[in-house]
Amino acid sequence: MKAKREEFERAIAPVLADLDRQHPGALRLELEPEESELQAWLWDADGSGTGVYLGDGWDSEVDAVLELADKVQEAAIEAVWGITGSGNWPACPEHPDAAPLSPGRHRGAAFWWCPQDRRAVAEIGSLSGIAATLE
Ligand SMILES: [Zn+2]
Repeated sequence: MKAKREEFERAIAPVLADLDRQHPGALRLELEPEESELQAWLWDADGSGTGVYLGDGWDSEVDAVLELADKVQEAAIEAVWGITGSGNWPACPEHPDAAPLSPGRHRGAAFWWCPQDRRAVAEIGSLSGIAATLE
């Protein structure tokens, strides 16, 4: 079973907000009809689409956000690669050349974690746009 549409939209919104702040328009969300197995397509500028789906097996909205962050990140890395030639998304503000941040829990909320120093960098949905301009 898939999650309700409003649950899906609420959970994916913070992830897409972070992407839009750093790479405006990198992915366009197109919701699928209620009867579809997928919940939405994410379209990048080259016209490649990634189907996304949120199951209903999560226990909290935090888990739902983390699940979608993982899925959006895969599509976002491809999309950002097409724009910048580097698929590092989201880049850590302090270690922009390291591996991308990864979604995980921190103090009961959904955060982006730095793989370099194992630190919670920003809550998903509040990642600053500054990282995109760091070299
Ligand atoms: Zn870092």
